Amino acid sequence: MSRNAVKHTTCSAEETLALAEQFAQKLKKGDVLRLEGDLGAGKTTFVKGLARGLGIQDESGIKSPTFVIMHIYQGRLPLYHFDLYRLEGALDMESIGLDEFLGDPNAISCVEWADKAPDIFPSGSYRIRMKSVSENEREIIIE
Ligand code: ADP
Ligand code: MG
Repeated sequence: MSRNAVKHTTCSAEETLALAEQFAQKLKKGDVLRLEGDLGAGKTTFVKGLARGLGIQDESGIKSPTFVIMHIYQGRLPLYHFDLYRLEGALDMESIGLDEFLGDPNAISCVEWADKAPDIFPSGSYRIRMKSVSENEREIIIE
């Protein structure tokens, strides 16, 4: 594990929400979060916690944007929420114009399934790796 990686273990979805809510406090305009982990690892749950931390009102509307690719929520800062699950290859990335939004200096961008496109991320992006350990336990490495 690299030097600036911090490992957390949460024991419920609520704990993951709280971790992300707290993490959101240190985010600044232009920050990019790469979320990695299998289906059910808790990526969308983490994004909900970010939304909470950014003062976004209707958290119930936050779902993986699997079909529309991107959602925008308005809080203390705008939060862009992407999901690359259904995308195939680099061509798709360019054709959907992801690069126009990613790293927008006035917003925070978070990307589920970021490992599908490791090359598109600006250096200095946060990388958040999530893994199911048991039904309610998740390992979350933030670097
Ligand atoms: P992903 O976006 O990675 O596919 P989701 O956040 O949509 O994952 O789903 C995670 C599921 O796992 C939710 O049903 C959530 O309630 C459940 N869960 C159980 N324990 C945890 C935990 N510790 N952290 C996050 N989610 C958890
Ligand atoms: Mg998801």
